[in-house]
Amino acid sequence: MPSPVVLITGTSSGIGLATAIAAARAGWTTVATLRDTGRAGALREAADRAGVTLDIRQLDVTDPDSVTAAVEGVVADHGRLDALVNNAGAGHVGTIENESVDDVRQVMEVNFFGVAQTTKAALPHLRASGGRLITVSSVGGVIGQPFNEAYCAAKFAVEGFMESLAPVAAKLGVTVSVVEPGAVATEFVNNIGVDPADAIAAAGAYEETLKNYLTHILGQFAGGAQTPEEAAVTVLEALTAERPPFRLQTSDWARAFTGTKLADNDGSATVGMTGSWLG
Ligand code: NAP
Repeated sequence: MPSPVVLITGTSSGIGLATAIAAARAGWTTVATLRDTGRAGALREAADRAGVTLDIRQLDVTDPDSVTAAVEGVVADHGRLDALVNNAGAGHVGTIENESVDDVRQVMEVNFFGVAQTTKAALPHLRASGGRLITVSSVGGVIGQPFNEAYCAAKFAVEGFMESLAPVAAKLGVTVSVVEPGAVATEFVNNIGVDPADAIAAAGAYEETLKNYLTHILGQFAGGAQTPEEAAVTVLEALTAERPPFRLQTSDWARAFTGTKLADNDGSATVGMTGSWLG
C-alpha cells in the first residue's frame, strides 16, 4: 500500500510546521506548503532533525491560481490526496470603530476565503480517496473575544462552513473536522504585528479596555501556552483516528473554555466571562 498523502497549508512556522513533521513521522507522504518557499528554512531544519522527508511546495491560500496549481500538482505527482489540513491563518487585533471594513475583509480573506478556496480545490480528490478535511480553527471560532471581531468572525465562518459541510461530505465518504487551539506559542502573536503601547495610545475611547484586554491575553500566552508540537498531536488525531469527532480541542483548557459557550443557550455566561477581562 502506498503511504497516504496529506497537504498542509502554512507550514513556515508554528502548528503547520509541527503538524508536517508529525505527519511525516507517522508515515504520511507530507506535502508541506508555504506562501513563500524562501521561508522554508525552519521547516527544512526541523525535517532534518526529525530524519523525515517532506515535499515542500508553494501555496498562498489567497491566490486561487496558486491553490489550484498546488493541489493539482500533488495529485499529478503522487496520484492521490488523502487529507487536507487547512492550517494557514493570521491573527488580528482591532475594533470596528478604529479600523476600516477593508481591514476586516483582509482578515476574512486569509482566514475564511483561503479555507474555502483550498477546500474547493481538494474536495474532488478527497472524495476519490475517501479522505479527511481538517481545519485549524480556534477557541475563537466558538467564543467571540474582545478586540477580535474580525478574527473571530472569520473563525466562526470557518466553523459554520465546516459544520454545514460535514454531514454532506460524510455521505460521500469524506470526514470533516475542526481543531480548536487555545494559546499556542508560535509566531502567531508576532505576526499580528501590533505593538501594545502604540495600539493602546491610538485606541481613543477604547484605551482602557484595550489595555486590560492585552494584559489579560498576553498573560495567558506567557503563562499557559501550549507548544505547537502539543497542538499538532490533536491535528494528528483528526488525521488518523478511526472516527474522529467533528470538533477537537487541543487542550483541557480549550475544552473547558469552549464548553462555556456550547452549554450557554442565552449567551450570558460567555459574554459575562469575556467582559470580566476588561476590568
Ligand atoms: P504562525 O506561526 O503565525 O503560522 C501561521 C502560518 O500561516 C504561517 O506559516 C504563515 O505563513 C501562514 N500564512 C499566513 N497567511 C498565509 C497565506 N495567505 N497563504 C499561506 N499561508 C499563510 O501561527 P500558528 O499559531 O501556527 O497558526 C496556525 C493556525 O492556528 C492559524 O489558523 C491560527 O489562526 C490558528 N490558531 C493559533 C493559535 C495560537 O495561539 N497560536 C490559537 C488558535 C488558533 P508566513 O510565514 O508566510 O506568514
